[in-house]
Amino acid sequence: MLTDPDYNYDAIVVGIGHAGCEATLALARLGHKTLALSISLDNAGFLACNPSIGGTAKGHLVREVDALGGEMGKAADATLTHLRMLNASKGPAVQSLRAQVDKYAYHNYMKRALESQPNLFLRQGECKDVIIEGGRVIGVRTVTDLVYRAPAVALCCGVYMDAAILIGESVEQKGPAGFARSNYLADSLKNNGFILRRFKTGTPARVRKDSVDLDKLEAQSGEDTPYSFSALSRRVNKTGEVCYLGYTNPQTHAVIRENLTKSPKYGGRSFGTGARYCPSVEDKVVRFSDKERHQFFLEPEGAGTVEMYVQGLSTGLPADVQLRLYRTIAGFGRVEVMRDAYAIEYECIDPLQLDASLMSKSVRGLFFAGQINGTSGYEEAAAQGLVAGINASKFIKGEPPVILRRDNSYIGVLIDDLVTAGTDEPYRMMTSRAERRLILRQDNADLRLTETAVAAGLADGKRLKKYRAKLRGIARCEKLLDTVMGKTELEKYFSAVGEPPPKNAMTVREVLRRNLVTRQNFCAAFDIFKGVAPDALSHIFTEVKYGGYLERERRAAAEAKRLEDMAIPPNADYSALGGLSNEAKEKLAKIRPLTVGQASRIPGVTPADINVLIIRLHTAKK
Ligand SMILES: Cc1cc2nc3c(=O)[nH]c(=O)nc-3n(C[C@H](O)[C@H](O)[C@H](O)COP(=O)(O)OP(=O)(O)OC[C@H]3O[C@@H](n4cnc5c(N)ncnc54)[C@H](O)[C@@H]3O)c2cc1C
Repeated sequence: MLTDPDYNYDAIVVGIGHAGCEATLALARLGHKTLALSISLDNAGFLACNPSIGGTAKGHLVREVDALGGEMGKAADATLTHLRMLNASKGPAVQSLRAQVDKYAYHNYMKRALESQPNLFLRQGECKDVIIEGGRVIGVRTVTDLVYRAPAVALCCGVYMDAAILIGESVEQKGPAGFARSNYLADSLKNNGFILRRFKTGTPARVRKDSVDLDKLEAQSGEDTPYSFSALSRRVNKTGEVCYLGYTNPQTHAVIRENLTKSPKYGGRSFGTGARYCPSVEDKVVRFSDKERHQFFLEPEGAGTVEMYVQGLSTGLPADVQLRLYRTIAGFGRVEVMRDAYAIEYECIDPLQLDASLMSKSVRGLFFAGQINGTSGYEEAAAQGLVAGINASKFIKGEPPVILRRDNSYIGVLIDDLVTAGTDEPYRMMTSRAERRLILRQDNADLRLTETAVAAGLADGKRLKKYRAKLRGIARCEKLLDTVMGKTELEKYFSAVGEPPPKNAMTVREVLRRNLVTRQNFCAAFDIFKGVAPDALSHIFTEVKYGGYLERERRAAAEAKRLEDMAIPPNADYSALGGLSNEAKEKLAKIRPLTVGQASRIPGVTPADINVLIIRLHTAKK
């Protein structure tokens, strides 16, 4: 077996969830013989919870995964059933695409992508052990005692490690949606010195569409605007599915309060730390007891099924109580539950044990990505999987890793938060986590990250062609911005859009800065930008309209970059550095930040400590 090609690979990825799919595809596309091992091949890209991709800040992540050469954006565009631009009335920093997707079509799409990828070997089996020798990973062992060897291993095990399904007093040792769980890997990691925690999340029931009186709910159709997650999608799938908005009521809350102790959490039977931003309905009733009602969305699980997902009403209450609480809701009087809601607890690692490449600090060649790192969400998982795949490839080739920065991507914010500050609860991405939101818009993810994809070797010809065309479009617009527009032609236009009349002739740039000037009404009135692609045009309009704010953000980013570029020796002896607080010495020695910028974000490391570090680094340099 030692040399048998069936058991020897360049890389092994354990798990084909959202992280595993991206890691595996990246490694195989970068030319590595890659094994993808999963407890089940039927959960490739499985949407265990909401049948949707994107949403606030998550839509940004999907665009960034796409720009870096990942698959999630294309998969969502090919399988979506309903599409909306969230926060469209707000500023461009928080506008974010959200799609309902057909979860079965999404799974099939991802499984086909894995099956049709050269260099990629799919194998069903449960990983029991990670094999480590001399501080390096050398392979994995399965429960059937097969040993697969590779110099790089990425663990993308999601919510499966020692998972338990909690419904009322029933506890089942199972993974999500009836899949088998991972029974041994958590212990193997603990035996190798890794710190694990128990987290929890939950999902609502799935109900029969035709058992709900939809007239009692508010229908929400998707938008027809031709948005897409991927820059490469020529068209997106549209089946015109509808979502429905509904509300709980005081009767619903009464059923919940009467049975609160029967829920795992309020009955003292659940020990996992839950997701603050995905609370169960019992959490909502307890935490917001003054609220008369809580909203929920009824979302289609797929075009070919009657199953509907009740977004916002996840619970761990007993199945009979679930039925009673759902039946109190307007429109749900005769509702049929097809799958019960449940809470799931699982083991995950403390991400402070990883460096910014997502490699373990203690085991070389061992990478971790996805929910196993303490995050929650398909998009957060996919982003980490892609980075782990790229960096496992760099590791195999002996090249320096790709480290994404906070001022250049939400993925950079996500990973830096995990490996620098850590997380004590399931971490969900939000735009408020980024210091430079206006720079990190979803519409310019390709401009921010395509060059990184090129350097990583994941930008194919089609992507480069699209990217260069956008750059040309932007460059053409920039030239046109200094075009002078006459006072007369502007008077008619300004009065039409409600702007005060111009005092003199104005440049296009000055005109675009006017509040009531929009891309739509300007291009309807003037053909200056005729033939420029919509993506290049919307970029220019945003850059001009928010020019002042962007300038400020870019200056702040440049200042922060000064600290980001100040490298700290990985083996620095902080205990010997006088002037540092004891807390700082302890935290710096534990986290081992790569830069002063990263050090400044470690909780407990003060600006005074940072000054000491900077002075010491300068002195050392001299
Ligand atoms: C019940 C539930 C509710 C959720 N609610 C939300 C929510 O409200 N909001 C939200 O953002 N996210 C939610 N999620 C989370 C979302 O599903 C995950 O974030 C996402 O699926 C994580 O992706 P991943 O790739 O890390 O892991 P997963 O998608 O969980 O995939 C893990 C993969 O690893 C494989 N695997 C695991 N252990 C082994 C092993 N030992 N050997 C071989 N293969 C193994 C599995 O077969 C699977 O392929 C929920 C998940 C569940 C289960």
